[in-house]
Amino acid sequence: MKAYTSFSTRKTPQSEPIPGEHMIANNAGGYVYGLDPFKTLERFLILGSEGGTYYVAERKLTKDNALNVMRCIEADGKRAVDLIVKVSDKGLAPKNDPAIFALALAASAKDPATRAVALQALPKVCRIPTHLFHFIAYVRQFRGLGRGLKRALGDWYNQMPVEKLAYECVKYQSRDGWSNADVLRLSHPKTADKARNAVYKWIVDGWSDAVDPAIPPIPAFEAAKTNPADLTALILAANLSREMLPTEALTKPEVWEALLEKMPLTAMIRNLGNMSKCGLLKPLSSASRLIIDRLHNDELLHKARIHPIAVLIALKTYASGRGVRGSGTWDAVSSVVDALDDAFYLAFNNIQPTGKRFIVGVDVSGSMRRVGISGMPMSAAEGAAAMALACIKTEQDYEIVCFDTKIVSTPKLTKQMGLKQLEKEVCRMGGGTDCSQPMLWATKNKIETDVFLILTDNETWAGAGHPSQVMRDYRNKINPSAKIINLGMTATACTVNDPNDVNSLDIAGFDASVPQVISGFVKS
Ligand code: CA
Repeated sequence: MKAYTSFSTRKTPQSEPIPGEHMIANNAGGYVYGLDPFKTLERFLILGSEGGTYYVAERKLTKDNALNVMRCIEADGKRAVDLIVKVSDKGLAPKNDPAIFALALAASAKDPATRAVALQALPKVCRIPTHLFHFIAYVRQFRGLGRGLKRALGDWYNQMPVEKLAYECVKYQSRDGWSNADVLRLSHPKTADKARNAVYKWIVDGWSDAVDPAIPPIPAFEAAKTNPADLTALILAANLSREMLPTEALTKPEVWEALLEKMPLTAMIRNLGNMSKCGLLKPLSSASRLIIDRLHNDELLHKARIHPIAVLIALKTYASGRGVRGSGTWDAVSSVVDALDDAFYLAFNNIQPTGKRFIVGVDVSGSMRRVGISGMPMSAAEGAAAMALACIKTEQDYEIVCFDTKIVSTPKLTKQMGLKQLEKEVCRMGGGTDCSQPMLWATKNKIETDVFLILTDNETWAGAGHPSQVMRDYRNKINPSAKIINLGMTATACTVNDPNDVNSLDIAGFDASVPQVISGFVKS
């Protein structure tokens, strides 16, 4: 009999596929399920491939994802473009580059209908000239600059309201070896509108009296070059941004004070250090009051498409009192740091309590701590900790477990101290990975939960049973209707969730809509 007792379909080591299931090897050598190509596309759009993962170099991760984007485009071009537009336009991703890259691939598809849909979507994904320059640089990696593409580029300038066009083109003049003048020379947009023609002429030929001086901020921008004494008046009158000013002006508190008046939120959170450094942003100052008010303005945060992870990075940078590129030091204002912490949660779409019980499993293995998110100064584990807290921000009933090949800790959090405390937990030494640990722990301790939320890079390999098998066991023994959500933290095509399990869900980590999606799934 002994010969036949070693084979089981109920408990299979993670180093082997479950017999009879379609499983693939992940990058750590464990077996997991393959993620649906459109889900993989969504992960790529949100997480990007910048910096690679602990296991996969940036170049290979980019190639894998590019091939998957092409697969999706070929399978259903319109669906792929719709997804690209959704992620970009709704500000779901911390960075727009993966969406621009994917759109460039769609604009180079074999199918003319897909190319047309992609080019139509250009203004929705590329909203400022810098995005457009990125797009042109990418698209040239895949195709030539043919007639359809040139027309789309010309339309991009033609369809933008002329006041906005003037503003954006003064603010973002060139990048990636492309300038607005280059693109206009290439695409020759035709227009009968005199004002628009004046803007085009200014872009291509520079300032002259032929330019209609009524179109701000062009005259003010030109005046700022020669009249530094009038700078604050010019900033206030024409809403000049920091990009439009001579560099030497950006050390003066009065200049920053004028800039702050109408500064967009993204620029504001990125320049808190600069505003402290020049002496404008001090404790109890009117500048700090203004900044705190804006950070608490829910509507403003959403209108500006501020991504929660961008707020988190601003928080870390500002609180550290030191610029990322070594650009000086400052004393952070603590009430501003607190306001950034509040803004982090506000920036997510609609955090509403579900009233369900959650076990949140945060993967703190080595691979999660040693890799950054999309080239940003934050580890995947730190990001996972922040996402975990956002997901349970309004919940009453939850337990957090940090795991590697065992339960590393079950941190007891208070809502106030939450983030800092949890980050300390995830930064402890972690080793190998076994994503079945949270379910094993709950089974062993007979803990009844409605939801397992697992935040991981899916590079699980060490467990004696697969997470899907352990989950089945948990449902048999404790709660038959328990759901499992996998929050994927890297842009790989793997998941520990069984694709046939209707009570499982895969979501890309760092998606601004995560709490909303989770709440919809958990309540259904
Ligand atoms: Ca790992």
